Amino acid sequence: MNKNLTKPPLLEFLEKIHQSVSVYTSGSPADYIPELAIVNPDQFGIALTTVDGITHSVGDSSVEFTIQSISKAFVYSLAIEKLGSDEVLKKIGVEPSGEAFNSIRLNDENRPFNPMVNSGAIACTGLICEYAKEDAFDVVIDFLSEFAGRKLSMCKNVFNSENLTGDRNRAIAWLLKNNKQFDYDVEKVLDLYFKQCSILVTAKDLSIMAATMSKNGFNPITKKRVISNEAVIKSMSIMVSSGMYDYSGEWTYRIGLPAKSGVGGGITAVLPSEFGLGVFSPPLDELGNSVRGIKVCQELSSHFKIHLLHSEDNAENCIRKLYDLSKIRSLHNRKPIDEKTLNLNGHKSSVIELGGNINLVQSDSLTRAISKMIDKDFIVISLEKVSEFTSGAVEILKAFLSKIDDKPQIIFCGLRNQDLIISEFYEDLSESADPEILQFDNLDRAIEWVENQIISICGENAEKGKGLQQIMSQPILQNLSSTELDSVKQNLELLEIESGKQIIALGQEADGIFLLLSGKVEIALDDGKYLATVSSGTCFGELALISPKEYRQANIFSTTSCSCAWISAENLNKIFSEFPAIKSKMLLNLSLILVDRLNKSNAKIALGT
Ligand code: GLU
Repeated sequence: MNKNLTKPPLLEFLEKIHQSVSVYTSGSPADYIPELAIVNPDQFGIALTTVDGITHSVGDSSVEFTIQSISKAFVYSLAIEKLGSDEVLKKIGVEPSGEAFNSIRLNDENRPFNPMVNSGAIACTGLICEYAKEDAFDVVIDFLSEFAGRKLSMCKNVFNSENLTGDRNRAIAWLLKNNKQFDYDVEKVLDLYFKQCSILVTAKDLSIMAATMSKNGFNPITKKRVISNEAVIKSMSIMVSSGMYDYSGEWTYRIGLPAKSGVGGGITAVLPSEFGLGVFSPPLDELGNSVRGIKVCQELSSHFKIHLLHSEDNAENCIRKLYDLSKIRSLHNRKPIDEKTLNLNGHKSSVIELGGNINLVQSDSLTRAISKMIDKDFIVISLEKVSEFTSGAVEILKAFLSKIDDKPQIIFCGLRNQDLIISEFYEDLSESADPEILQFDNLDRAIEWVENQIISICGENAEKGKGLQQIMSQPILQNLSSTELDSVKQNLELLEIESGKQIIALGQEADGIFLLLSGKVEIALDDGKYLATVSSGTCFGELALISPKEYRQANIFSTTSCSCAWISAENLNKIFSEFPAIKSKMLLNLSLILVDRLNKSNAKIALGT
């Protein structure tokens, strides 16, 4: 009998951590801001939100507390988003300070060391004031609300308490003003800074805010993009080096997650591409970090071997399946002789089924795998289970495919899978590859197409296959893409005609067009008057292309044994309905053929022949 499967094991693990870490009672709430000194020190909440939008929470994870310094990581990303990283870098450094978070000191260039210490944070708030003026607080709280996925509010008591006791921050603010790190009223900048620190969040909110960072700036709960990937990366990089006060170095060494703590007792931590974490427990250690918050992160990191720099050997794992077509078949049931052809020749074609995120290294691994099968006739590459193709990966694959000249024919499928940003990918690839890359919506259709090619080239009618190869050169079919040509090939019938046969009768309905692949035919009027000879490599009966309701204008006889590709008027309509562009291309080609014939007739008339 299954045990209780309704509670996710990850939640059970968080409950165990919550229980085991609750025994730590050292530390005490921040007391330099009077309102913080009176919070209940026993409150303890943990929340974890995954990038696919699931939040696991334990204990006091819905209790509100003031965000304090954690706000710095988000306001810094806001400044980068609105002003650009270069502009922000001119005012705020990115180096660890090695000093207390509220040190009244700037670096040798009279800039704050980084945005995670008070001097950098106040400078950053000053930039937001310059940018948003009187709307600055609304801009900040709305932005943090977007990250949290709910409308946040501010605690007036903590704001007033900090405003009344924040003289050290006033000293920092005037030092910044004196060094022109912002051009705005100092008291207004401080007012905004104290308000941003007094915004109320819960451990759940912090986990969602961190998960939004983990998902490259996309909120997994609201499914809305909050911020660009670049701004998130820049903010997380400073969180790694300076997010945990003077414990930052040891934090990265032991735990290794981008994180930011606040004297309100909160810690938020990010595992990129996986989850965001929020912890709330007011008692702080001597460095200003939540004692239990640190313990929770240590437990999580060591138990699941989570570390930003932890890597898995995933170069090969993008290739989920690799096989040829000697045994694997499409759903198309074929006659035994064709199955036999595929059994004998299927090894000439391979299928690569990819999955997961394809990054630079994995794309390189894919190109190496394709290199090993370069003698194949056809290679199908399925992206149906791929969730992301990084731009670097596309560049590598494009560069590789552009080196392939006539074979193997590369066929993609799954380019339109909803998660994959595909249009640029496919357009990019088809621009750079020759012969043109084919694509099908699903793997079975792609395999079926390859089977058709194998049968037409190697099957019982190998001649038919050769005939099909000749079709590609027919003037009436010039400038058709491989996919369009394939539609034509799938809708024609190969005819073998003995010499001396009447193929078309004058006055008959124009019910199809003939592509002459080998042999010769003559065109004559009813009285036997010879009009012209048509030899292989061109077409006759093309009236069907213009108007199948018309009646044939002459008789046509085979003067040798001929092989033709016959496309009925009905199949022409089927082709044109699937690929409308083919009709205009064929009509243009026909007009060029008729102009050529007219020129030849005119030349004969001019010569009086
Ligand atoms: N508002 C607090 C201050 O400026 C934030 C400090 C912190 O959370 O590190 O001192």
